[in-house]
Amino acid sequence: MYQNPLKKTIEYLKGTGPERAKLLQSEFGIFRYEDLLQHFPFRYVDKSKFYKISEISSTDAEIQLKGQIVQIEEVNQGKVKRLKGKFQDGSGTLELVWFKVSPWQKDKLKTDLFKEVVIYGKPSVFNGNYSITHPEIELVEDAKNIPLGLFPVYPSTEKLTKRGVTNRVMQKMMMNLFAENIPIVENLPENVLQHYKLISRADALKAVHFPKDLNELNAAVRRLKFEEFFFLNLANLSQKAVNKQKNRSNSFPIIGHYFNTFYNEHLPFELTNAQKRVIKEIRSDLKQPAQMNRLLQGDVGSGKTMVALLSMLIAVDNGFQAALIAPTEILAQQHYDSIKELVNDLDISVELLTGSITKKNRKPILENLENGNLKIIIGTHALLEDNVIFNNLGLSVIDEQHRFGVAQRAKFWRKAKLPPHILVMTATPIPRTLSMTMYGDLDVSVIDELPKGRKPIKTIHKTDAHRLSVFKFMKDEIDKGRQVYVVYPLIEESAKLELKDLMDGYESISRAFPLPNYAISIVHGRQKPADKEFEMTRFKNNETQILVATTVIEVGVNVPNASVMIIENSERFGLSQLHQLRGRVGRGAEQSYCILMTGGKLSDVSKRRVQTMCETNDGFKVAEVDLELRGPGDMMGTQQSGVLNFKIADLAKDKEILYAARKCVEMILSQDETLSHPINLATKQFFLENHKDKVGWSKIS
Ligand code: ADP
Ligand code: MG
Repeated sequence: MYQNPLKKTIEYLKGTGPERAKLLQSEFGIFRYEDLLQHFPFRYVDKSKFYKISEISSTDAEIQLKGQIVQIEEVNQGKVKRLKGKFQDGSGTLELVWFKVSPWQKDKLKTDLFKEVVIYGKPSVFNGNYSITHPEIELVEDAKNIPLGLFPVYPSTEKLTKRGVTNRVMQKMMMNLFAENIPIVENLPENVLQHYKLISRADALKAVHFPKDLNELNAAVRRLKFEEFFFLNLANLSQKAVNKQKNRSNSFPIIGHYFNTFYNEHLPFELTNAQKRVIKEIRSDLKQPAQMNRLLQGDVGSGKTMVALLSMLIAVDNGFQAALIAPTEILAQQHYDSIKELVNDLDISVELLTGSITKKNRKPILENLENGNLKIIIGTHALLEDNVIFNNLGLSVIDEQHRFGVAQRAKFWRKAKLPPHILVMTATPIPRTLSMTMYGDLDVSVIDELPKGRKPIKTIHKTDAHRLSVFKFMKDEIDKGRQVYVVYPLIEESAKLELKDLMDGYESISRAFPLPNYAISIVHGRQKPADKEFEMTRFKNNETQILVATTVIEVGVNVPNASVMIIENSERFGLSQLHQLRGRVGRGAEQSYCILMTGGKLSDVSKRRVQTMCETNDGFKVAEVDLELRGPGDMMGTQQSGVLNFKIADLAKDKEILYAARKCVEMILSQDETLSHPINLATKQFFLENHKDKVGWSKIS
């Protein structure tokens, strides 16, 4: 029977053996030849020439030399032992130093004494003498098989190095693998290679491990990145196609009385172009008898509620009920208030259901929901309880998606005969590259435009040394009738420190803004809910002019009169958090400001964050930088980071390749949905063998 040689386990590879194979398995999950092939170098070093000891003039670069080790001795320096060696090449003598050596390494060094070796490392200088610490060493005899050129440096672990699996050993294993001349089958269609000018898989894998030069390396890396994105997109997009067929839902073909009356007579403002586009996208989904699974991304204040309402009106026009679920009571209440007001003249029933609605008030709501008189319900998790029974739920809108688990969303399914359409709204913009990857099997709509006439928030960086001028600025704004937030970071490791920072800040602000002219609210995580509520309400009602708080205010506070956001110790916040906090201001007609306070000295990363905030108000741009600084795994939480573990591609850097691969897969599937055309067969085969498990992992409903 034919067996793909790349499926062989690596213990059978020359120079590996069961012990190393086991190590590579446990450290890197490398089981088979194909896994080893995809253990890519993370950098390359230039070994295109041999230096002479007499030529060494700098300690900047790693170099390679050829000669002999003529002496190895153990020396005691104080309490520590180290191993020293003498290396000669006819032009001079160089000291080699090891702080830590395994018995295995020591033996090897001794047996190789006086043999011709190549050593490799970065020189350091002490008292005018050069030395190399922990050099790589290779017998010339072994090294002669290795072509001169760019050399791969592989990711490694302490355990691997300790047990003798050095970078040289990894290189040799790779060479042995290629020496077997295993056929590497192409897995992308021929026409794709041509169109995107990609080199073959076999050439790319060879060149990524042993590139002749930079050009060859770049071509290899580009090909492999494209391939990685290609199969990820193939998994996502074919899952999407499967969902469309499998998940039947009610089609809403009618745009009727409610939508039209509202749109033509009660719309309080003209929709932005982005809102119009998104509504169109949703309408075309809802026309289909397949379940909509759409993610709606839009920055704070971009007008997602209006999109939600219009979608719900379509459901109602088609005789169905709609639900809007929010993560907190405050948010549910806000949605309820604004939607209730919007549809006031429309003769449509809207109710609010949260944990704090009394039993007495709850009863008629539940009854009307069940008998179908109630058309639109807005609420919190309370909507998911078992006693909440819909007559015919047709659409669920979920606000702030990341706070709901998959299991909770699934509950909506069981509340209707056919699964309802799902619209998930999130105000945490994530870069398009990331949403394409994370939610690649969903449809994504983006509102990338704020309503006209908003004044962009001015963001300013100030150090603690400017505190007095900041106080002065606060005073001026308050004198104009505005209100001010002052936010302190939440320090989880040190609750005490956090409270102290906050209380110190509160005191100094209280001194600068004394009663009776000024009043200050304070809100933090260790307050009783009732106290928190009381303080928030005073601020909301403009009875206090300053709200001093920890990050509890991040979500759900809407005080349009507040025009200044001061973020203390802002270097301790992540970018997306800074952006979310900034979104608390700029909600009214007034010019708003965000002031980022920092200590004097900033790390490069903090500098970049502060700079980004000062430069742009665009949440998507902020998210791009955040992705670059933190990496995708950190950004999305570790929970789903598995799928974000790219072997070679990098979401922050390889945007263009991702988009190209996505487009390419869309093209192929639109012409040959089942990949049955001969030109696509090898691709299908590879996909079924290697990527099948990825299908279906990110389903939201
Ligand atoms: P978010 O996307 O953060 O949920 P909202 O839906 O709460 O934003 O809208 C923010 C504010 O902008 C609301 O007061 C809303 O009435 C207003 N708004 C929404 N769309 C428009 C528009 N097209 N023109 C003017 N104002 C709008
Ligand atoms: Mg909102």
